[in-house]
Amino acid sequence: MADRAELTSYEYRQLRARILAASDVCIMCGHGGSDAVDHVHPVARGGARLDPGNLAPIHGTAGCPICGRKCNNDKGDRLLSEVKRLVTSIDWYAGPDAAGL
Ligand SMILES: [Zn+2]
Ligand SMILES: [Zn+2]
Repeated sequence: MADRAELTSYEYRQLRARILAASDVCIMCGHGGSDAVDHVHPVARGGARLDPGNLAPIHGTAGCPICGRKCNNDKGDRLLSEVKRLVTSIDWYAGPDAAGL
């Protein structure tokens, strides 16, 4: 439910350029080459829309050139902690108990 006017505003584009100039390492997959930024704490969940501290590099519609994931799609409006939990869930359950599976 993105506000298109806000997302293409001058202020937002300036912020995005600044974030990507500082780093292009994707917060989702950890690879470089990010072409978009995403709200770490989703605006839909109360995050600050134009706070540089709440924006981080992420792979947008073109996807990651290394692993091919469309990280921004994968993340959606979830908190990073929620997504990370999904991404790393295999490792989390790869303890002694996993042998029983
Ligand atoms: Zn990525
Ligand atoms: Zn990647």
